[in-house]
Amino acid sequence: MTIQWFPGHMAKARRQVTEKLKLVDVIFELVDARIPQSSANPMLGEIIHQKKRIIILNKADMADEAVTKKWIEFYRAQGLPAVAVNSWQGKNMHAIERAAQEVMAEKFERLRAKGMKPRAIRAMILGIPNVGKSTLINRLAKKNIAKTGNKPGVTKAQQWIKVGKSLELLDTPGILWPKFEDQSVGYKLALTGAIKDDLLQMEDIAAFGLAFLYQHYPRELATWLGLEQSLDDTTELLRLIAEKRHLMDRYHEPDYGRAAEAVVKEIRQQKMGRISFDIPEEIEEQANDEDHRDD
Ligand code: GDP
Repeated sequence: MTIQWFPGHMAKARRQVTEKLKLVDVIFELVDARIPQSSANPMLGEIIHQKKRIIILNKADMADEAVTKKWIEFYRAQGLPAVAVNSWQGKNMHAIERAAQEVMAEKFERLRAKGMKPRAIRAMILGIPNVGKSTLINRLAKKNIAKTGNKPGVTKAQQWIKVGKSLELLDTPGILWPKFEDQSVGYKLALTGAIKDDLLQMEDIAAFGLAFLYQHYPRELATWLGLEQSLDDTTELLRLIAEKRHLMDRYHEPDYGRAAEAVVKEIRQQKMGRISFDIPEEIEEQANDEDHRDD
């Protein structure tokens, strides 16, 4: 695998997140509902230590609803509150404030018992690029916040956005990096548009996408391509797509490269409907396999 993430950037991002952590009671970990595991940073728990955390599955409008429900159960079973939202259209925004109230209830009750006045819950958003952090912040702020670039010599004070009655949100999110030891994580990030195409071979991304669709969404795959039945032969699928999309080379042979590009583009555009690429059962199976390997 040729992907390289630069340790310097990671260290800087981590430092910035650690600084902001001190200011908040709770972390909103934003992930892509289509790939909750692959769009998460596995080090997040270590970075935020004991800080309370709520998983926000964003872009729920693009994910398979049944799978999203399973993810919410999966997280809740681990004691992690999780909510599914669509920041783009502002769907289920109230669930965020409610979840924050729930995780802070005990602590605030203790403060109240000591005679302290209730104060707003302070939160910040953490997530990898493109997961929808700015969209969510703008949505919660109910207006567009002017983007202030990094002007040299100007230190921008942290600003808090009031959300509902009980919440204050830091106006700048913490950015984490995706991490992939596993190739499939890279492919899933590419298929959902979280990372640039040039990091991976287009044919490999397309082949992964087609194989995944065949395994998990055969009907959607067949309908998308106008087939009677879905196929698991990736080369044959690419050939069919090349024909259907008129992607031929100068010898009138199927242009597999352009067919692969078309596949990735159309998967990103959700031409076959709402698809989730991370499935909780698969993640659990992988974890079990790893446990057995240690035996
Ligand atoms: P950031 O890098 O994490 O701040 O991500 P952005 O807020 O810039 O969002 C990245 C892209 O995802 C933009 O094109 C948004 O319009 C889109 N987006 C964000 N949230 C949602 C959502 O809930 N649903 C859909 N369909 N698109 C979203």
